[in-house]
Amino acid sequence: MGSLDPQIKISCNRRILLSGDGVSAVSEIAATYMLIKEMTTEESIDLLARTRLCRLACALEGQPYITPIHCVYDHNYLYGFSTLGQKITWMRKNPLVCVLAEELISAQDWASVIVSGKYEELPDIEPHATHRQHAYNLLQKRAMWWEPGYVETVLHGKARPMQFLYFRIHIQQISGHRGVPDSDPEPTLSVAQPRVARWFRKVFSR
Ligand SMILES: Cc1cc2nc3c(=O)[nH]c(=O)nc-3n(C[C@H](O)[C@H](O)[C@H](O)COP(=O)(O)OP(=O)(O)OC[C@H]3O[C@@H](n4cnc5c(N)ncnc54)[C@H](O)[C@@H]3O)c2cc1C
Repeated sequence: MGSLDPQIKISCNRRILLSGDGVSAVSEIAATYMLIKEMTTEESIDLLARTRLCRLACALEGQPYITPIHCVYDHNYLYGFSTLGQKITWMRKNPLVCVLAEELISAQDWASVIVSGKYEELPDIEPHATHRQHAYNLLQKRAMWWEPGYVETVLHGKARPMQFLYFRIHIQQISGHRGVPDSDPEPTLSVAQPRVARWFRKVFSR
């Protein structure tokens, strides 16, 4: 251990010791390292395109609600299906949603993509019928695609209604982060800037 100012070497699994106004020391607590990198839009879309299971978050009157769902990416839209229930009721009232797709290989090797978008229901009437058929064509390529979204569900002793519908999410914003095992055993991060030092104090003094 020793003073590391103005340059400290850090990885996610080293312990940072704080004193006074800045980071003063670091002690190693493990032997593997990870970097988090920003993914390009193309990489983020690639992950969405190969992901089957997403987390769909909606919100109503300040209360968030999130469910796992299956979805398929195509040309800036995510297509899905659902039975009528809380998420559909909420998205009809507030169509602004957030979707998370992720790939987790290990604690140091993962990728996650976050989409902000707008819910659009696809009823069996023009002008939606074509998009509804498109949703079906995309979804049915996957075996047992209706499960577990379309199965009898008993809640509080009662079977919930099995009213089926298709929808899509128009993607308005997308970002991707990837955690990668670090090939450089001693990555460096400058804490000479006060902003970075403040961030370290905030995060590591909890
Ligand atoms: C791997 C996987 C894939 C799925 N794919 C789809 C899909 O493609 N389409 C689809 O519509 N559904 C899918 N589901 C089911 C989905 O996650 C919801 O459970 C279901 O759609 C009901 O949501 P709802 O908002 O209509 O709930 P409602 O039936 O209105 O639920 C009432 C209450 O039950 C609770 N609840 C609902 N769902 C869950 C849950 N999953 N876990 C814990 N509590 C819950 C909530 O507290 C909610 O307030 C999938 C689930 C899994 C695990």
